[in-house]
Amino acid sequence: MNCIFCQIIEGCIPSTAVYQDEQSYAFADIDPKAPVHVLIVPREHIASLAEAGKDHPALLGHLLWVAAEIARDKGLLNGYRTVINTGRDAGQTVDHIHVHLLGGRLLKWPPG
Ligand code: AMP
Ligand code: ZN
Repeated sequence: MNCIFCQIIEGCIPSTAVYQDEQSYAFADIDPKAPVHVLIVPREHIASLAEAGKDHPALLGHLLWVAAEIARDKGLLNGYRTVINTGRDAGQTVDHIHVHLLGGRLLKWPPG
C-alpha cells in the first residue's frame, strides 16, 4: 500500500519511535510545530476519522490514552493539545488517521 505511515510502521521509512504497542505506534513529527510534537497512529490502516467504523471506538480511545501517557512521560504538566485533522478543509495531508500531540509551549486558540 502506498501509505507513508504504514511504511513507517513497517520500518521501511525511518522514524523516531516514542511509544509502541500491539495496536499503535507513536513517533516524532518530522516538521515539529511545538517543542513536543508526536504523532500517534493505529497499526491498522484507517484513512481518516471519517472512515472509522463501529468496530473502531476502542482503538480510537486507545490512541488518546497513548497520547496522555506520552504527555505524562514528557512532563507536559502545564497542558498539551491533541488534534485529529480530518479531510482537506482541516489540512489532513496523510491519509492514515493520526493524533497529533502538541505541547511544551503556549498554544493559541482557536487554531487557524
Ligand atoms: P496532517 O497534516 O494532520 O495530515 O499531519 C501529517 C503530519 O505528518 C505532518 O505534521 C507532517 O509533518 C508529518 N509527517 C509527514 N511525513 C512524515 C515522516 N516521514 N515522519 C514523521 N512525520 C511526518
Ligand atoms: Zn496507512
